[in-house]
Amino acid sequence: MWEFETDADYQKDLDWAEAFVRDEVDPLKYVLPHALERKHPIWQALVPPLQREVRARGLWATHLGPDLGGPGHGQVKLALLNEILGRTPMAPIVFGCQAPDSGNAEIIAHYGTAEHKAKYLKPLLAGEIFSCFSMTEPQGGSDPKEFTCSAVLEGDEWVIEGEKWFSSNARHSEFFIVMVVTDPQNPPYQRQSMIIVPADTPGIRILRNVGISFGEGTVGRPVEEGGHAYIRYEKVRVPKSNLLGERGKAFVVAQTRLGGGRIHHAMRTIGMAKHAFELMLERAVSRRTQGELLAKKQLVQEMVADSWIDLEQFRLLVLRTAWRIDRYKDYKRVRGDISAVKAAMPGVLHRIASRALQIHGSLGITDEMPFMDMISNAYHLGLADGPTEVHKVTLASSLLRNVKPAEGLFPSGHVPAAREAAFAKYAEVLEKVGRD
Ligand SMILES: Cc1cc2nc3c(=O)[nH]c(=O)nc-3n(C[C@H](O)[C@H](O)[C@H](O)COP(=O)(O)OP(=O)(O)OC[C@H]3O[C@@H](n4cnc5c(N)ncnc54)[C@H](O)[C@@H]3O)c2cc1C
Repeated sequence: MWEFETDADYQKDLDWAEAFVRDEVDPLKYVLPHALERKHPIWQALVPPLQREVRARGLWATHLGPDLGGPGHGQVKLALLNEILGRTPMAPIVFGCQAPDSGNAEIIAHYGTAEHKAKYLKPLLAGEIFSCFSMTEPQGGSDPKEFTCSAVLEGDEWVIEGEKWFSSNARHSEFFIVMVVTDPQNPPYQRQSMIIVPADTPGIRILRNVGISFGEGTVGRPVEEGGHAYIRYEKVRVPKSNLLGERGKAFVVAQTRLGGGRIHHAMRTIGMAKHAFELMLERAVSRRTQGELLAKKQLVQEMVADSWIDLEQFRLLVLRTAWRIDRYKDYKRVRGDISAVKAAMPGVLHRIASRALQIHGSLGITDEMPFMDMISNAYHLGLADGPTEVHKVTLASSLLRNVKPAEGLFPSGHVPAAREAAFAKYAEVLEKVGRD
């Protein structure tokens, strides 16, 4: 059975979330010094009360199952909620489902010991701390086989040495999950491990906090300090027990977080693109030129129509993928679908935000409107969690994997052979009825 409706009870929650995000959460971006500066008095005064309201409504960390303190709504319901949260940068934090913490929590839930869960997972799920995923290196990110940052066992301690690039949120985090080479003699996919490193461990040097032009949710304000750390680990010592999962299994551990993380970004992207689309519609029916509204111009109408088609196609692909995750509960089985969503997402946001910018004219390109911020975000989405090219390769490989080659010289769709077969199949009838 095919259905395109949300159940009535959950729709009430979504309606509540929509109004709450618009009226209570969105204004935060103008007054908070930084989304992650938890210790700032303004943050402390404004954010925790909103988080309490979300909890009371039962919408806190809805990506988690009851065993981890969430309602276990599954990915389809999360997609519908994330569409709303994607409209403004603080919403995922207020609803307890922000990246990279949500993915890091999944890793610790799957692979952490009882001690890791008590020390790191519990405060993370309670929204009391932030965390960082430290994997990419300055010499290469798309191919983790290029990584060299290493950890060597000395007695009961790992000693970590090397550099990491673009470790988002490091300066606001209490701990990092670091991917390190522990077994260089093994085959390529079994050389690295994941290790928890508390942020106050001696030897962690943040060389720079790299910023992004626009796209950090700072509409109208300069980014003073970037959110993406270039880190040098200089003989950083952590207990042997900080290993997450099995030694040499970092690739397996990483997949636990990346599948979910990618689809969650896609869900939030729908929200962002929808916001641009709504602004485009409003402008088209508000602005006049040559004696008529922009909405009357056919080229403007084309932009509106193309944007709706982009958005709705993408939304259906995301919801279908979310449905398949809920259905099969196996990220491996939906890897190709997630890669398709990941590859489609930057283009959808880029196209819709660009058209919205264009329809707003000079105002559209200023920092008084969010479009350049969204366009910059589209580039984030084409890089973070793996570049588009790599996801297209993953999708194509999964589509091609079980395809059988044609049996003869000509393809199976070759018309002469199909025609001949059809004539053979209906020979008796054709004989009786005659061919004219
Ligand atoms: C906003 C943002 C947040 C991020 N946060 C984190 C984080 O928290 N932790 C973390 O560890 N990393 C993070 N990253 C890094 C991200 O994972 C890397 O940027 C990504 O994996 C690409 O690596 P790279 O930047 O080194 O590009 P490279 O690996 O140098 O690739 C550059 C380009 O080469 C091309 N390319 C690469 N591979 C292929 C291929 N197989 N076929 C064809 N073309 C290819 C693509 O055009 C690609 O964009 C973040 C990145 C961004 C933009």
